[in-house]
Amino acid sequence: MSDAAYDGILLGAGHNALVLQAYLGRAGLKTLCLERNATPGGGLVTSESPCNAGFRHNTHSFFHRAITHMPWYRDLELERRGARYLEPALNVALVLADGQVLEWWTDFEKTIASFERFSSKDAQSLRRWRDDFVPVLEKIVAPEGRTPPLPAAERRARLEKSREGRLLLAASELSPQEFVLREFEHPVVQAGLLFFNGLREVDLRCKGFGHHIPILLAAAGKAQMCVSGSAGLARALVDAVEESGGEIRCGIEPRRIVVEDGRAVGVETASGEHIRARSFVASCLNPQQTFLELMDERHVPQVWRDKASAFAYNLLAPLFGLYLDLRERPVYAAEKDCPQLAKALMVILGLESYAQFPEIVEHHEKGTIPRTVMWGSTPTIFDPSQAPAQRHTAFMWEKLPYRLHGDPGNWDREKDAHGKDMLKLWAQRAPNLEGAVLGSFTRSALDTERTLPNMREGDLLVGAFSNGQIGADRPFPGAGQYRGHLKGLYLCGSSSHPGGNVTGLPGYNCAQVLHADLGLKGPWNRT
Ligand SMILES: Cc1cc2nc3c(=O)[nH]c(=O)nc-3n(C[C@H](O)[C@H](O)[C@H](O)COP(=O)(O)OP(=O)(O)OC[C@H]3O[C@@H](n4cnc5c(N)ncnc54)[C@H](O)[C@@H]3O)c2cc1C
Repeated sequence: MSDAAYDGILLGAGHNALVLQAYLGRAGLKTLCLERNATPGGGLVTSESPCNAGFRHNTHSFFHRAITHMPWYRDLELERRGARYLEPALNVALVLADGQVLEWWTDFEKTIASFERFSSKDAQSLRRWRDDFVPVLEKIVAPEGRTPPLPAAERRARLEKSREGRLLLAASELSPQEFVLREFEHPVVQAGLLFFNGLREVDLRCKGFGHHIPILLAAAGKAQMCVSGSAGLARALVDAVEESGGEIRCGIEPRRIVVEDGRAVGVETASGEHIRARSFVASCLNPQQTFLELMDERHVPQVWRDKASAFAYNLLAPLFGLYLDLRERPVYAAEKDCPQLAKALMVILGLESYAQFPEIVEHHEKGTIPRTVMWGSTPTIFDPSQAPAQRHTAFMWEKLPYRLHGDPGNWDREKDAHGKDMLKLWAQRAPNLEGAVLGSFTRSALDTERTLPNMREGDLLVGAFSNGQIGADRPFPGAGQYRGHLKGLYLCGSSSHPGGNVTGLPGYNCAQVLHADLGLKGPWNRT
């Protein structure tokens, strides 16, 4: 292997790796990121429709929660680099078959007013839990997401010392489902809360996650969208990396992490190139890829191999997407009585009551298709640049099992038919839609895994939050501090705390650990 040209090598150019790489560049390190796809950004993709020129779709992430509040967004000066976000005021709208709409606004009082129309008791509970949890979020949960996690016992001992900590512990004893059913009475409110706040993130039946509901009620930052599409955030991050001297090479697949004298010292690529790293190799991939596929068996202790192989994925995370190129935007029949719906960022359709959740879970377990519950957006209402003039793009996502009838390969045969079923429901709620479609395509969870193999089984969170895989035990005990078992080996992707979605926090936290280990100057130790 040639002499080291780089201080460090990163594997996979997901946004977490790019955040980490940008901080390291600013600290003076020379780094290289290797990415198998043709473009960097991982789940930050905006690409042209296969049907029509000029229609651009966000086939992975779209709703970026409170991105502009993230510390790295500010530190890396992403707005100066072209990133720009919108946070539409009517953030989420659950549209019922009878035309009623449960609304979730950036203005809390407007959300309360909408809940009042369903149940004034629920509106009061909403206010009480939000008020109680604002300090829990500000003093505990937000800082915990932005720092390497404490061991579980130490964390609990700390939490028990404060009122907010005890409140958090008490809520987290429950599952999200238990919390919502105990605190809210109206079936639509129950369904809405579990959907807005739960179903997308954790298994609602899982104890230990009841606090997710009041935390999200308390969060000031709502869903945001990136102007020009999600890839706009990737471009700004790449700019931050490159300005600080970092290199990103796309279309390169690593074959193995090279180990010498018990230390990760570089990477061999699939084409046989050897690239040496003086200080570290950081992986934005999942534990099976990092410890089993990319490392010789003899360099990984059996206990680490066993834990990596047992790392589990979310049954309920896989998404199916229907993407439309449109002559005009979907106009919902419910807009007649609720004109503000025309400007809703996220629209949920097909969800009428809490009772549908057990059904959805059962279908996932059996690998069959439940009654459609879907959510999506018409990005071009807010950002016309994503389609030709006067035209629109829109999408709907649905949670559907990865192993359809026992085999993910079945998706290739069935996905177009399922897309038609989704369109049918959509057009029932927005009657102008069928005549407005200029082109459409679908993407299954199998397509997701093919594009981003770290999202094993199509799990967009890159690992379940159940199975003990949280906090200092994510991805598994012993690997929860962003460090592998060898000197110089680090983890920086969504399989680490605080987990998946576009938060940048696994990369941000890994940056803190690497700065400490390498004695670098960064925003955490400036003073
Ligand atoms: C359909 C869909 C919708 C989503 N919607 C949202 C949303 O609205 N909001 C939200 O916050 N999140 C959403 N997500 C989830 C979000 O995209 C991910 O959680 C996030 O991208 C994970 O970031 P990451 O940096 O850890 O990894 P990724 O973004 O997955 O990046 C990992 C990178 O590693 C590369 N890679 C994988 N294997 C290899 C290999 N062997 N060698 C080299 N490179 C490799 C991949 O190509 C990729 O570029 C969605 C995901 C999907 C699939």
